[in-house]
Amino acid sequence: MFNKRLTDCVKDIIKENIGVGDVVVDATMGNGNDTHFLAQLVGKEGQVYSFDIQEEAIKSTKNKLLQTALDQQVLLIKDSHANMKAYIKEPVKAYMYNLGYLPNGDKNIITQKETTLFSIKEALDLLAPNGVISILSYYGHKGGLEEKEGLEALINNLDSKKYNGIAIETRNKRNCPILYLIYNKSV
Ligand code: SAM
Repeated sequence: MFNKRLTDCVKDIIKENIGVGDVVVDATMGNGNDTHFLAQLVGKEGQVYSFDIQEEAIKSTKNKLLQTALDQQVLLIKDSHANMKAYIKEPVKAYMYNLGYLPNGDKNIITQKETTLFSIKEALDLLAPNGVISILSYYGHKGGLEEKEGLEALINNLDSKKYNGIAIETRNKRNCPILYLIYNKSV
């Protein structure tokens, strides 16, 4: 399960939790890899809400989805994930956050501690029973450590009667990836 990149581990974990017809969110669309993955799993009966603040991300994700005929079940939203409640009204089975900057993009456009934490609190409100929030965080870049510390303060203080908060850390990589998982315990 863990003898691979954390970006691949998280997909195995999400796969366990969702299926055809589910409502899911890619909170950081980027190049669309996670959106594409989620769209395949939920099928045309499901719904993927996908957020990014960069036009570049919307364009490359749209192309990826059109090439694979997976565009029907995806809503691409050019807005901050902090505003997700303006778009999503129904319970969400899984959220994927992949924090930091767009690979091969502008390294100055980066997730920020305040908006990330606000968004995760909103995500918790909409999290379906037995739903999961996955958060890939990197603290090897500027601002990453503050974001990580904020995430840990939030997750460490979640009510353990309602949520399972888990962290899986890679120790020998320069960008220091950590995967956080928050499960809604109610089923
Ligand atoms: N999941 C992506 C993929 O599969 O290619 C990679 C995501 S990349 C590491 C992080 C993305 O978060 C960037 O594209 C960046 O523009 C986006 N981002 C930064 N702040 C954001 C915000 N407030 N709301 C939504 N997306 C944001």
